[in-house]
This record gives sequence, C-alpha cells and structure tokens, in this order.
Amino acid sequence: MPHQKLWNSCLDYFKTQLPAQQFNSWIKPLIVEVKDQKIVIVTPNGFTLNVIQERFLPEISKRALEFFSTPVHIELRIEKQRQIAITPNNPSSIKAEIKTIAKKTYQNSVKLNSSLLFENFVTGKANQLAHAAAIQVADSPGTTYNPLFIYGGVGLGKTHLLQAIGNQFKQENNQAKICYVHATNYISDVVRAFQTKQFDEFKQFYNSLDLLLIDDIQFIADKPGTQQEFFYTLNSLIDKNKQVVITCDTFPKEINGIEPRLTSRFSCGLTVAIEPPGLEMRVAILLQKSTQSKNPIGEDVAFFIAKHVRSNIRELEGALNRIEAFARFHKRPINVELAKEALKDLLAAQNKQVSIENIQKTVADFYRIKIIDLLSKKRTRIIARPRQMAMCLARELTQLSLPEIGNAFGGRDHSTVLHACKTIEQLKNTDNSIHSDFNLLNQTLRN
Ligand code: ADP
Ligand code: MG
Repeated sequence: MPHQKLWNSCLDYFKTQLPAQQFNSWIKPLIVEVKDQKIVIVTPNGFTLNVIQERFLPEISKRALEFFSTPVHIELRIEKQRQIAITPNNPSSIKAEIKTIAKKTYQNSVKLNSSLLFENFVTGKANQLAHAAAIQVADSPGTTYNPLFIYGGVGLGKTHLLQAIGNQFKQENNQAKICYVHATNYISDVVRAFQTKQFDEFKQFYNSLDLLLIDDIQFIADKPGTQQEFFYTLNSLIDKNKQVVITCDTFPKEINGIEPRLTSRFSCGLTVAIEPPGLEMRVAILLQKSTQSKNPIGEDVAFFIAKHVRSNIRELEGALNRIEAFARFHKRPINVELAKEALKDLLAAQNKQVSIENIQKTVADFYRIKIIDLLSKKRTRIIARPRQMAMCLARELTQLSLPEIGNAFGGRDHSTVLHACKTIEQLKNTDNSIHSDFNLLNQTLRN
C-alpha cells in the first residue's frame, strides 16, 4: 500500500525531527486511513486537528507530492463519537436472558446501594444523554449500547447512574446476576486470583454475570495484568449480549496507561459525558434533595447555595447538609441569612479565588504549550486559542477586570479580552472539543 508507505515515511521523519514529547503528543495519537485514494488523518480532538493543520500538514503534503508525483487529497477529521440516537423505551424489547444466580458472591463485588435510583436523579442539559442512555440500557440490557461508557468529572453523578442501572435491572430481573465493582476492587480481585491461583473461579464469576457495572475504570491504568483480564471479561460478556457499563473520569482515548485495544473496545458501544450542572440544575438538585428533609429550603436559599457552590453535586450536598445541621443546632429557620453564616468558611475560601497565574499554568500544561508563549504576541492558532481560553477562564473565575486580565496576558487591551471571551463562548456552542476543554479546565481550576 503506497499510502501506508508514505505515512510510515512521515512517521519516521517526524520522529527524528521532533522532540519525543511533541511526537508523542501530536503525531502518535493520529489514526491514518486510506479511502478512495484519499488520505484521511483522524485526530482525537479539534485542537490537535488545528495543530496538525498548521504545523505538520505542509510537510505531510510535501512528502505526499514527492511520493506520488501528483497532489494527493489529504483530509483531516476529528474522531467522531458514535452518534447518539436514543429511541423511546420499547416495552417489548428483548429482555436479558435470566440466569439463576450462583449463590456465591465474589470477594469484592459490592452490593448495590438501594438509595441511588433513577427516581432521585435530577436531569438537565448536563446529564440528560447519559441519563437516557442509562435508562435504555437498564430496560434492554445487552442489546442497545454495549458497553455503555459514561465519563465526567468528580461528583457529577457517575456512580449514582451506575447504581441506578443496577437497581432498576434488579427490580425487573430478580434472579439476574449483577455485579457493581469499583475498579480498585476489581484490581484486588485480580491480584488475589493470582496469589491464590484461583483464576478459574475469578473468570467463572465475572464471565457469568448478566450485568457488570464497573466504576472509575481509570484506576486500571498502568496495570497490564488487570487490563488483560478485563479485556477478556469485556469481550466475553459483550459476545454473550450481557450488558457492561463503565464509568471513567475522562474520554476513553484520553486515559493514559491503558492498552489501545481496551480503550477502543470501550468506545465501541456508546460513550456519553456527564457535565457539570448549570445554575438552574444545581437549584433543582438542591430543592429535590431538600424535599426529603423535615425542614425543606426555599428557592431563595437554593439559589444562594447554587450560586456559590459550583464545582459539583457532591459539594452541593455537603453545603446543604451543613446548612441543615446548622439550623438544627441553633434551632433557627433556614433562610439566606442562616445559609450565609453556615457556609462562612466555604465562602471565605472561595473569595480567595483562583489566581490568574494558576489559570495560565493550567491552560498551558493542558495544551502542552509554554506559559511564555501564552503571554507572547504570537498569533498562530495553536497559541492564540489556548490564550483565548485562558482569558475566558480568568474572566469567569477571578474578580479581575478586563483591563487587568489583558495586562496579565502580556499587556493586552481590554477589547482583546472581551473578544476572546466572546469567541470561546461562541465556539462552546459549535465545537465539541472546545466545549469539553472548557468544562474540564473550569472544573480542574475550581477544585
Ligand atoms: P461521581 O461518581 O461522578 O463522582 P456520584 O455519583 O458519587 O459522583 O455523585 C455525588 C453525589 O451527588 C451523590 O450523592 C449523588 O447521589 C449525587 N448526585 C449526582 N448527580 C445527581 C443528580 N443528577 N441528581 C441527584 N443527585 C445527584
Ligand atoms: Mg463515583
């Protein structure tokens, strides 16, 4: 295949010309396909695509021209996640085959937490796809999206959804063999199986499940033995149309230290994100949580908490619990005044704010560029876009004024900062990778 040869020669060239870190960041993750005399370079995200286009495409085109003595069509494309098509629940859809449970439960498979249900999971824009996919999977396991891969930051409801799937499935298939396991416990199971040479038992347990719910899969990174076992289990269950649901803190291709054959298996079902909830959704969650208490909070208090606690749902719950405990202790009604007092420490810590230096460093690290470039006058897109991102985050996360932000970015004008914020806001609506980069950075910086 001449095209493959060409690509190999490009790889050799970049490998010798680029520092290893850059080669590994930009070139190595590319997937190259040849279709109808076209070379298609698939990049993991929009940002990499821009980098390839600006920095490396000219060299690739040049080589292609030399190689074929005629211009070759090269197409850059972002790796697409599978299209999501949630169909309404179909009661007649095939139910999982029910197996009689083997009496024994495996060492570390934890029982389901019966309080984490779909009923008490509040939905909104940030999680509605993940929620819909989870319901679909619980209703017709093994037949729709297998595996279902749910990813998102901490405290956003991944475990809740995973458990909800288990609980619903259990309700409908009382005899089914369900296992919820945190990845660290799965690792312990593998280790124990090694130590006690009871691999048959281990395999027998995991391979005979009707539903496997595995939480925080990122923990199996850099554990090749566990990965191998998990690869077999995953294939074996999927082949039998047994549902597997996986949660993770990032997108499959972004997990470092996991074999590519495994990450590509992760993405062969459906991958859905859970994002940080917006203000209204945070209010809805607080109101829902509070209806269970004797002394429910009003909307004004919910708004007050939601405005100040933005990072994740676990923190929201923590704040609510603190307010309720404070009110109980002082025998006072819950109102905004009391909420302010109860959350005094939290608000004080928050007022410290994220520093602009921290934002710059985090953004530079994230995009693998130098801080000095971020503050420089360079206007190439691989620098300019992260700079706009950092400015936009500074506007959102600090109390600094536009001129102050501009100043911190190498003495730029306030209108440049404003333009940056507008650009990012617009791109967030049209470009998935910018949208997810923003959320990720935003959450990282807030924590
Ligand atoms: P993660 O596993 O993503 O770190 P969890 O599932 O443990 O997050 O969620 C943290 C807490 O927030 C849990 O107590 C969970 O019940 C609650 N929670 C998360 N998402 C929602 C939601 N959409 N509606 C109601 N409660 C939620
Ligand atoms: Mg969790």
